[in-house]
Amino acid sequence: MTDLNQAAVQKRLDGAIEETTDTLVVGAGQAGVAISEHLSTHGVPHLVLERKRIAEAWRTGRWDSLVANGPAWHDRFPGLEFDLDPDAFATKEQVAAYFEAYAEKINAPIRTGVEVKKVVRNADRSGFSVETSAGVIQAERVVVATGPFQRSVIPPIAHQEEKLTQIHSAEYRNPEQLPDGAVLVVGAGSSGVQIADELERAGKKVYLSVGPHDRPPRAYRNRDYCWWLGVFGEWDAEAPKAGKEHVTIAVSGTRGGHTVDFRSLAQQGITLVGMTKSFDDGVATFHRDLADNVAQGDENYLSLLAAADAYVARNGLDLPEEPEARNFFPDPECLTHPLLELDLAEAGVTTILWATGYTVDFSWLKVDAFDVNGKPKHQRGVSSEPGLYFLGLPWLSRRGSSFIWGVWHDAKHIADHIATQRKYLAYRDASQIQTETEREKSCRDVAPDSQAWKTGKQGEIA
Ligand SMILES: Cc1cc2nc3c(=O)[nH]c(=O)nc-3n(C[C@H](O)[C@H](O)[C@H](O)COP(=O)(O)OP(=O)(O)OC[C@H]3O[C@@H](n4cnc5c(N)ncnc54)[C@H](O)[C@@H]3O)c2cc1C
Repeated sequence: MTDLNQAAVQKRLDGAIEETTDTLVVGAGQAGVAISEHLSTHGVPHLVLERKRIAEAWRTGRWDSLVANGPAWHDRFPGLEFDLDPDAFATKEQVAAYFEAYAEKINAPIRTGVEVKKVVRNADRSGFSVETSAGVIQAERVVVATGPFQRSVIPPIAHQEEKLTQIHSAEYRNPEQLPDGAVLVVGAGSSGVQIADELERAGKKVYLSVGPHDRPPRAYRNRDYCWWLGVFGEWDAEAPKAGKEHVTIAVSGTRGGHTVDFRSLAQQGITLVGMTKSFDDGVATFHRDLADNVAQGDENYLSLLAAADAYVARNGLDLPEEPEARNFFPDPECLTHPLLELDLAEAGVTTILWATGYTVDFSWLKVDAFDVNGKPKHQRGVSSEPGLYFLGLPWLSRRGSSFIWGVWHDAKHIADHIATQRKYLAYRDASQIQTETEREKSCRDVAPDSQAWKTGKQGEIA
């Protein structure tokens, strides 16, 4: 697949073998594959280094039953369709295979099994020294495509009780992995609700700690919510709405896709509780915010229905009405009289599953591209350190930035920026061109005559 000889050249400098490339991309998930396509379109020599395999996060970083949250027609790059019913939800293996096939299709110069350990701006020459598990590479530019979700986050309130099993959703694989007993799932974004649902269906007693969330309908009036957010222009929103910065989104593509409905989860047998506050002497305490959080999720759901109805009316679309979408199950007991405390031993809880999100780790990047809080400083991925780029981060340029369809567009922007920079650097003013032309001419004038000894015309030189 890979023509690495074109991507990176070996050069002898001061007697040492040195590998160089114009643009080095770190990471071959969807972000690394997307930027490779755009760099190739611009003819930018580049090399993608991946510490494990292409799309590793989809292969081994997620639970066994995970399927894409968006349908196959939506969660893809423009250049290749999934080999699936477009309305189906790809399994995580199918997503990984898709990116592998994509990389092959575009002949991406990806080198797998090589970890980037350190990136340092060169002091005495342009570009960066990139230390890898397979030696040092010199690169004029570096694109950091190491993912939006690199390190799992467990809040400091975590219970210290050693008898309990505590795992993050990143380590969860399937119900059989957990010990017998009930589970407290903390966090009700897409991961938390899907895992809680799976555990309950596997016969476990589940408590689900629910914070602020959006929960769009899976589909309304015969259109998936991905379609609605697309036509509303919401995937392109540049920043979360005020007050929604910490609101997670609860959606699911499992069992053919369905709306996440907390009342229905409760009816199934899951006990909903508010945000987890603390753990003291084996007792978990919860905030008194469950009803508010569920109400705000309902508001988000209903506001999408209203916006969709208005859109249908304004554009005269022929989409079937769906009044039953506004029917809610009655409020369950756990919602009207929420538990504020749970004695874990009494309730038989043996596992706490933290579905509390992720953060990034850029400790290996020794460059001037971070603010005092360690957050990347960039504009649409173009960092404050010239020649260094970030790709795939949440809200890099828009809501879709960390998702499959969004990263492709951010990658194009970054590749365009790199190509433009290269054009500036290739610029020569008139005097330079003249000097270069004269030099070339004098070389041409001398060159044939320098071969004159072969023709016996040496005398003509003088
Ligand atoms: C549970 C879950 C479900 C999701 N579902 C969807 C979905 O349905 N649809 C959707 O659009 N998005 C989804 N996402 C969001 C997003 O699409 C994925 O997180 C996706 O994996 C991000 O792609 P990426 O290329 O930016 O990062 P990653 O896939 O994380 O790829 C980064 C790559 O960089 C490599 N790497 C890291 N550090 C180094 C290093 N130092 N040297 C070399 N290589 C390195 C890693 O091995 C990895 O392969 C989901 C996310 C999660 C967590």
